[in-house]
Amino acid sequence: MVAMTIFKNRTLRPFAAVALGLAAMVLAAAPKDAPATSGPGIDLPGMDRSVAPGDDFYRYANGTWMKTTEIPADRPAFGPDAVLAELTTTRTADLIKEAAASSAPAGSEARKVGDYYAAYMDEAGIEARGLAPLQPTLDRIAAIADRKSLSRYLGGTLRADVDAINATDMYTDNVFGVWVAQDMNDPSRYLPFLMQGGLDMPDRAYYLDDSARMETIRGKVKEHIGLRYLPLKIPDPQGKAARIYDLERKIAEAHASREDSGDVKKSNNHWARAEFETKAPGLDWDEFFTAAGLGAARDFGIWQPSAVTGISALAAREPVETWRDYLTFHALDHFASVLPEAFGQERFAFHGTVLAGTPERRDRWKRAVDAAGFALGEAVGRLYVEKYFPPQAKARVEEMVKNLMAAFGRRIDALDWMSPATRARAKAKLAVLKVGVGYPDAWLDYSGLRVERADAFANADRAERFEYERNLRKLGRPVDRSEWVMTPQTVNAVNLPVMNALNFPAAILQPPYFDPTRPAAMDYGAIGAVIGHEVSHSFDDSGALFDETGRFQNWWTDEDRAHFEAASERLAKQYDAYKPFPDLAVNGKLTLGENIADVAGLAASYDAYRLSLGGKPAPAVAGFTPDQQFFISFAQSWRQKVREPALRQQILGDGHAPNEYRGDTVRNLDPWYAAFDAKPGQALYLAPGDRVRVW
Ligand SMILES: [Zn+2]
Repeated sequence: MVAMTIFKNRTLRPFAAVALGLAAMVLAAAPKDAPATSGPGIDLPGMDRSVAPGDDFYRYANGTWMKTTEIPADRPAFGPDAVLAELTTTRTADLIKEAAASSAPAGSEARKVGDYYAAYMDEAGIEARGLAPLQPTLDRIAAIADRKSLSRYLGGTLRADVDAINATDMYTDNVFGVWVAQDMNDPSRYLPFLMQGGLDMPDRAYYLDDSARMETIRGKVKEHIGLRYLPLKIPDPQGKAARIYDLERKIAEAHASREDSGDVKKSNNHWARAEFETKAPGLDWDEFFTAAGLGAARDFGIWQPSAVTGISALAAREPVETWRDYLTFHALDHFASVLPEAFGQERFAFHGTVLAGTPERRDRWKRAVDAAGFALGEAVGRLYVEKYFPPQAKARVEEMVKNLMAAFGRRIDALDWMSPATRARAKAKLAVLKVGVGYPDAWLDYSGLRVERADAFANADRAERFEYERNLRKLGRPVDRSEWVMTPQTVNAVNLPVMNALNFPAAILQPPYFDPTRPAAMDYGAIGAVIGHEVSHSFDDSGALFDETGRFQNWWTDEDRAHFEAASERLAKQYDAYKPFPDLAVNGKLTLGENIADVAGLAASYDAYRLSLGGKPAPAVAGFTPDQQFFISFAQSWRQKVREPALRQQILGDGHAPNEYRGDTVRNLDPWYAAFDAKPGQALYLAPGDRVRVW
């Protein structure tokens, strides 16, 4: 909602989620109903057959589509995931509006969904109330007089708005975020993890990198901060903006880098409650944790210790007046979407246009649909699944999952370098993997969330608190491995490494990723590779660190690890060589986990496809052999156009390589060379010894 970013890691892709809370859905020609495949099942006119597949497979499969497709004005990027997101939003919107118009009984989920949407749409009411709904918060900030009251306020705004390795959302605009997850040293219990936050811009690099582009953005963020104060008629907004920015820069200096935050070895730190005063002096931790509802917690995970120490010291060192200004700015920014229009416009002008290059703000009704879907995600998901995800689709995908798991098991058996001990642990891990298809086994209970039809601000505030309290209630309870971290209406997929579970939401199980009416080769090339990608995350550079119980424990022998790391190193080099811009290359190390997942996922899905045939031949389509269909379908599932600022933002901070290079994963698979006759001298050609096979 108010603070979503495109910084996703272990998920399938970065832009499919609602990027910055403002990724877009204006696709005038978007189909209202499922785009049933009538025809070949792959996009033949979208290919460019004048390009040799061995030189540029991505353009061979997508060249004409790339030339003829425009990114809609309100999106940072565009591709099939955006088309599906649009279709799903349209459908979800219809369900939500239906709920708003119906007279569902008070207290029912349908009523809550409808009321949430209606309140968000009540623009006149929101304008009329002005800043009144935020006034109690502004008063609390104005009353901060010392370190103690500052600590109390900061604790009281703590929310469950981050996730280190499941949904992987590293960003919160509060100084810290809480992630309640399995203790990686003792996976039988939950632990509250503290994660760094407090920046208006997406990452510390925006404050500290000395490139010209970052200099320009820094100039604009100060304007953005100052403008926030104008409606409050507070004197010297520019002076305040400069001081607030300066505090944020100091917070950024304390932050761990995005790369370090993705490194579990550096991040799995445990602090006992009693250690905070000595390890991170500054904040009044008693006040902080009591206000946060965590007064009884004895142990914490500390994902970025430097940030906890640094921010706590700043709480004591920086003038209280600067903190008050900083918190006022953040409160206005945080709730901008449910305050009068001027605040939302200003937030979009900076976060949407300056940071992501998106020219137009999305229509209010689309934002309202997102907001309701975010606050009441599984309630909306339940309505969605009942209407759009038939049991036959679930059964068919589960059959593919079965073949993928079998293929993965065979690949593990066939690894000549792996020791029997490591092999046994890998097979044990594969055996416990809990694969969720479409929707969770049990739905979340929203009976404790109050929603009022006439109060968008209070609804948003209560929804955040509800989610926070729901997470705190997990502490001390048995771990529930069936819980999902994505809603069924999300066009994405995710691996939950500590839970040893995978989520494949219903909304990604649609064409062009999945279509039971087309030849199976195409489904295995698209959704099959996605499933393989997520399975392999359990065995990639981070997944290899968690055993079959979710414990953070090296389950490899040293020799096995050495081989794995050597292969990883070669893959990192392969991606380091991709340069989308003369001054910016893909970061092979940052994207390594995702790239391993792409290679392993595609290879496993190819095997699973062969397995599914049971020795029977498959038909050619439009002159393409089954193997060619498989690889073209794969490259087409990754087609995407991205605006330059958004692409640069992704390369700097996201764990996923740009889609074009993900499509080029094919060059690591021997069958691709046979299928397209790729030869030495062609740009994508790798000698057999240079093709990376990790699994
Ligand atoms: Zn992934």
